[in-house]
Amino acid sequence: MPHKILQVDVAIVGAGPAGLAAATALRHRGVDQVVVLDREAQGGGIPRHCGHPPFGMLEFHRILTGPQYAQRLVTQAINAGVILLTRHSVTRLLPGGELEVATPDGLVKILARRVLIATGVRETPRSARLVTGARPQGITTTGALQSMVYLQGLVPFKRPVVIGTELVAFSALMTAASAGIKPVAMLESGARITARYPCQLLPLFKGIPLLLNTELTEILGINTVQGVSVKDTKSGQSRVIDCDGVIFTGQFTAEATLARMSHLELDPASGGLQIDQFGRCSDPVYFAAGNILRPVETAGWSYREGTSVAAWIADDLARVADATNDSQVILNCEDPIKLVVPQRIIAGQAGGFKYLQLRVSRPVTGELLITAENNQLWSKKMSLLPERRILIPIAALNYPKGTQTLRVYFKEQ
Ligand SMILES: Cc1cc2nc3c(=O)[nH]c(=O)nc-3n(C[C@H](O)[C@H](O)[C@H](O)COP(=O)(O)OP(=O)(O)OC[C@H]3O[C@@H](n4cnc5c(N)ncnc54)[C@H](O)[C@@H]3O)c2cc1C
Repeated sequence: MPHKILQVDVAIVGAGPAGLAAATALRHRGVDQVVVLDREAQGGGIPRHCGHPPFGMLEFHRILTGPQYAQRLVTQAINAGVILLTRHSVTRLLPGGELEVATPDGLVKILARRVLIATGVRETPRSARLVTGARPQGITTTGALQSMVYLQGLVPFKRPVVIGTELVAFSALMTAASAGIKPVAMLESGARITARYPCQLLPLFKGIPLLLNTELTEILGINTVQGVSVKDTKSGQSRVIDCDGVIFTGQFTAEATLARMSHLELDPASGGLQIDQFGRCSDPVYFAAGNILRPVETAGWSYREGTSVAAWIADDLARVADATNDSQVILNCEDPIKLVVPQRIIAGQAGGFKYLQLRVSRPVTGELLITAENNQLWSKKMSLLPERRILIPIAALNYPKGTQTLRVYFKEQ
């Protein structure tokens, strides 16, 4: 049973860019007790182990490395009077703003008037990708590699293969280079890389073969990685690539373990928390911001999202807006639309997020539409790619009074 009780105005779970930016903004709005809880020994979130630039251009008007950016976020929050509690793992979210927290001194209960969930994303590890083979040493994600290389000075392998071509895969190449690691190949199961041009030039300059239409089928080796079996998805032919490690990159999923065990509603499409246009969850005491909302955005985007949601929390505490009793419009997305955030709009309320954020699950060309009943509210002809940011202005959705659902769909050409 928790033996210590702490009462605060706002408790924030996660000291990444979203959580720390929100905490700073809340203090600047005059909110008294703002506490940020993080399970790690240091605040800053993912950027702490991204040892490369560019971070912070819009927020701090500087080009910073990830660790420099993380340090700035922490310093800015502390200077604003935020209480940052590291090595504090939030283990339960209970109705009405009650949190159970595991700390080095035992269990603590926190009672907060409002709670912001900002627990971020993680890459899909090998275990969740159903790849055949034993469990040899030398299999990581980009995040784990960055942590080993930049934070612990470890070099887990010398000649790994890199799986995936999202932007983070190219961070993996840079991390590898900084530790003298030379990947033997970069594998992409699709016909083109997921990240934008000119990312494909990086493996080219570094002399790393970029193998498109190539799927990993098995990891070879018992104690250490000896190689990987790969299949050409066009010809069906298999071959072995000799290597001593595997870096699984991307395929981000919301870090929603805590939320999943709670009473809060999740969005099956994004894997994160379901919110309205103010970032408010199904329990109105709870809000969410940052990459927990959707895989995946940049640190800067998460920072700005945290700042915006903080303003709406401050309004809510000051009772400037009471959105809870108004009618809600639910957004339903259909394949190939993978997700839409926010998933709910409180009708007749000014302010909040300016845009709906969308992602598609595969490359498509045609028309993106939003309708209410059979009324077309918005449409645009577009070519869309997975993992790319798609924004639709919420103000453009002029739905009639009494609308309960909006349909978000795509007509392929
Ligand atoms: C491997 C990797 C590399 C990336 N590289 C880049 C990059 O180069 N540039 C870029 O712009 N973006 C990058 N990103 C995207 C990254 O998610 C964002 O940059 C940004 O960090 C998101 O901010 P956030 O505040 O939402 O979450 P995070 O930065 O992930 O912070 C979440 C925090 O919540 C804490 N937490 C989670 N659960 C609990 C709990 N139960 N109790 C207490 N604390 C908890 C975590 O310890 C963490 O500190 C990368 C992401 C990953 C996974």
